[in-house]
Amino acid sequence: MKEAYNRMNALIFDIKRYAVHDGPGIRTAIFFKGCPLECVWCHNPEGIETFSELLHRPGICGRCYTCLNVCPRDALRKADSNTVTIVRELCDGCGLCVEACPCDALQLAGRQVSLRALLDEIERDRIFHDQSCGGVTLTGGEPLLQHEFVIDLLKELRRSSIHSALDTSGYAPEDQFRLAALESDVILYDLKLMNDEQHRQVTGVSNKLIINNLKWAANAGLDLVIRIPLIPGINDSDAEIRNKAEFLADLGNIRSVNILPYHRGGIEKARRLERFSRFHELEVPSEEKLNMALKVFRDHGFETKSGG
Ligand code: SF4
Ligand code: SF4
Repeated sequence: MKEAYNRMNALIFDIKRYAVHDGPGIRTAIFFKGCPLECVWCHNPEGIETFSELLHRPGICGRCYTCLNVCPRDALRKADSNTVTIVRELCDGCGLCVEACPCDALQLAGRQVSLRALLDEIERDRIFHDQSCGGVTLTGGEPLLQHEFVIDLLKELRRSSIHSALDTSGYAPEDQFRLAALESDVILYDLKLMNDEQHRQVTGVSNKLIINNLKWAANAGLDLVIRIPLIPGINDSDAEIRNKAEFLADLGNIRSVNILPYHRGGIEKARRLERFSRFHELEVPSEEKLNMALKVFRDHGFETKSGG
């Protein structure tokens, strides 16, 4: 399916108001759809594809089949188990079935929004931003996949004196990354694995671009907060944690390191998308491991925090 965004209209899959884990203060977090990575632990699997997608919850589906009758593309079928299956190649994300469902068992991830409409939504939260030294966080997915819209949005936020945070994997062409980074007040930069081959295995892409963009941002003196997902069995070895701490200490100019412990929030959403097999269900990190990781970064001179 074709990408459903352009410079005039973004494709977003959520707006979270009163977010307190995505940058300073109380924030409006905007989730941009589409990501060039596919991390096996992803907690927002509905943010990966670049088009709208339907999620179905069989557990609360009343088997009334109203949705089959309203779908103009014959994209919904009755399965052998009497539940509903989605023929995803036929679905164009029109949302008619979501509106018709009496049980709230269908949900559409992905809606188009213009810059003006998004700014109007943000403006409604301004009082909370002002009272808490908060602002707006652009997250996803990977916001830089929609770089033209994102750069326009960042410029508008700056013009309106609204604090902006760009939450990025750093996996974007240098020129796009730099333009967006220079328009952001703080960059929440994800760092997953230092070893390139292991990074490819668990995210699907090389980390070379990510490391290079991070080095540039640190050299440019931009405000950087490093966000490290702590994923048992994948990047929680003592050697990997120390390797990251030494790399970041050598970069200089890094304000703080936030450790984001793995949680299983993405698993249920992957099931609703019928994409469960692409993700791994992992153990949640122990308190001991989390504290050890935080201590390593503190010992290297960073402010640390668990979460956001
Ligand atoms: S309309 Fe909703 S409750 Fe009825 S079959 Fe479809 S998904 Fe299930
Ligand atoms: S979103 Fe539209 S096209 Fe897709 S299944 Fe629902 S009604 Fe059919």
